[in-house]
Amino acid sequence: MTALSFCHTVIDGNGPYLDRFFTYRVPPELSEQLQVGHYVKVPWGQKERGAVVHSFSHRLPPELSDEDVKLISGIADPRPVIGPLQWKMVEWLRGFYFGTWSEALRCLLPGPVLQGLRKSTKARKKKDGIDQPAEEQPPRLTGEQEQVWGQLQKSLAEGKTFLLQGVTGSGKTELYLRATAHVLHQGRQAIVLVPEVALTPQTQQRYRSRFGSRVCILHSGLTDAQRRREWWRIRDGEAAVVVGTRSAIFAPVEDCGLIVLDEEHDSSYKQGSDIRYHARQVAAWLSRETKCSVILGSATPSLESYALALGGRYQLLELHRRVSDRPLPEMRIVQGRGIPHQVLQALAERKAKGEQSVVLLNRRGFSNYLQCNDCGWVPECTECSISLTYHKAKRALRCHYCGAHRRAPDACPECGSHKLEYPGRGTERVEQELSTRLPELRVARLDRDTVGGRSQVFSEVFSEFASGGLDCLLGTQMVAKGLDFPRVTLVVVLQADTGLHLPDFRANERTFSLLTQVAGRAGRGEEPGEVLLVCSRPQDHFFHHLLQHRWKEFMASEQELRRALKYPPYARLLRLLLSDEKEERLEKKAQEVAGILEPVCHQSDVELLGPAPCPLERLQGRYRWHIILRALKVQDLQNVVRNSRPSLNMGKTRLSFDPDPLDLL
Ligand code: ADP
Ligand code: ZN
Ligand code: ZN
Repeated sequence: MTALSFCHTVIDGNGPYLDRFFTYRVPPELSEQLQVGHYVKVPWGQKERGAVVHSFSHRLPPELSDEDVKLISGIADPRPVIGPLQWKMVEWLRGFYFGTWSEALRCLLPGPVLQGLRKSTKARKKKDGIDQPAEEQPPRLTGEQEQVWGQLQKSLAEGKTFLLQGVTGSGKTELYLRATAHVLHQGRQAIVLVPEVALTPQTQQRYRSRFGSRVCILHSGLTDAQRRREWWRIRDGEAAVVVGTRSAIFAPVEDCGLIVLDEEHDSSYKQGSDIRYHARQVAAWLSRETKCSVILGSATPSLESYALALGGRYQLLELHRRVSDRPLPEMRIVQGRGIPHQVLQALAERKAKGEQSVVLLNRRGFSNYLQCNDCGWVPECTECSISLTYHKAKRALRCHYCGAHRRAPDACPECGSHKLEYPGRGTERVEQELSTRLPELRVARLDRDTVGGRSQVFSEVFSEFASGGLDCLLGTQMVAKGLDFPRVTLVVVLQADTGLHLPDFRANERTFSLLTQVAGRAGRGEEPGEVLLVCSRPQDHFFHHLLQHRWKEFMASEQELRRALKYPPYARLLRLLLSDEKEERLEKKAQEVAGILEPVCHQSDVELLGPAPCPLERLQGRYRWHIILRALKVQDLQNVVRNSRPSLNMGKTRLSFDPDPLDLL
């Protein structure tokens, strides 16, 4: 491959001092073989480390002398782990999201794959294929689907981005399947993203029954060995359709013809640490680079995407009706708290008719917190500025931010009183209340406590629900999305208005999406669906649009608000998040950073907001401050950071960058 004698690599490892290329000499016996993207072993002090080959050169870079440069020890796997396009992507990730080489590389080479490479010095054994179910015939498209498909088919080869806005149950997934079949037919591959692990068993099944063993699955619920195997199945070209969650956007497909983001508005598409990428943004980059098409689908697209579609950047496709002209579910408000009698009655009625229900409460645990009735004491997390949630089954107090937990006390540690109260309710309490008040109702609870990250649990619960062994799925937003069970005719949302009161400019939009989404689980079969929203203080304007399924009207009013307040999509934001164990040091550093950024911002039409303590002031033992930069053009934001970064001396304070933040807490 190369007669070039020096090779520049990125070391597999963390630390700012590693954030540059390391140069090695290519031994003559490897010079034929060695390629860009090979995972190699290199000498490192007395030991060896892994590294990925970035490029080659004839001559030594001037800053290095001959004796500095050591020989590469060997190649870990004969196949390059990333190609030239992926390197370009790593460069882009590093630049756009302000990460290190190694952080960017890790997006593309997930942990289990890297572990495998570190261990192996020989070629991997080929795994036998997965048994292939019969590939089923697609159904005939409905009139509306046919129309949209016509538009899609015409332009799929052009590398366009489509925004498919279709009401719940309108058959969007069927169109994704068609589009996927289309690109496979042309010998290209497809990546299909879904927001939650919860959705993958069902989605998986639908893709598998259409494309058999050409489907591969990637998400964090898999074991390391499974992830490694699936990754290599794509890398080796054995699989052609990748179905997965956020990070599957980095799957090593050779020639991607299509990327689908189902429920494109979902905030789980954004990574919350290290490189804070958004899968939609990565998809857009891939589309620009490789001319692959992108389909963004949702019943309630994000305002960001919708604005681009209205502006003509995306091609808007719409499905207004459900398949077989089934009506959208009727939504009603039940004013009250807890589980009102009307709700219990409705659940019992469905059960009697052999129909099923879904109950959503977006809060896990038993009570929201614990409080001493005598002195008012409320236990808080010692590491975060948040009160602890009470989990009854384990008698534990848990922090929902950092996961810290301890045993709940039997008496108040402040005053010794035994009158402890457990105000509010989470899914655990609702499960208990349902079992006492409707003992015959067979309920399964799905939330992070019952599921953890294990997709196995989902598969089991879902297949039991599908076979009629359960009457009701109760859970957090895990039960809201994507599920397609024709016998569900009732959806109940408890505390349906709580999401509206969060201090976040997206609070209304998110609540509208979530409620529309969960409502969409009802009435997907022969029988019409009904939705009961339990609210203590229903807000007129918001619920008026929601109950009438008037998404467009709601979005128009949100647009006006955002425009007036200069929030996205009418501006771009970049959040600088600073954290430190010491509060005083942090505040001083935040002021100092703002002082450095300010003049640069001033020169480039960028507005600087802050510095200010984050709404969540303390997390995992660290105090937090942020600075928010706002501009019309993202390039201006990027330039401010690029130009001022060399002057920032952070010392012990941690600084991270969040372009286009979704979370301002
Ligand atoms: P969405 O993704 O928009 O929520 P789905 O694609 O899940 O909708 O479709 C809803 C239901 O209708 C599914 O059970 C699906 O199998 C069925 N379906 C979709 N398209 C058709 C069609 N053309 N003919 C018959 N059934 C269909
Ligand atoms: Zn007390
Ligand atoms: Zn905590």
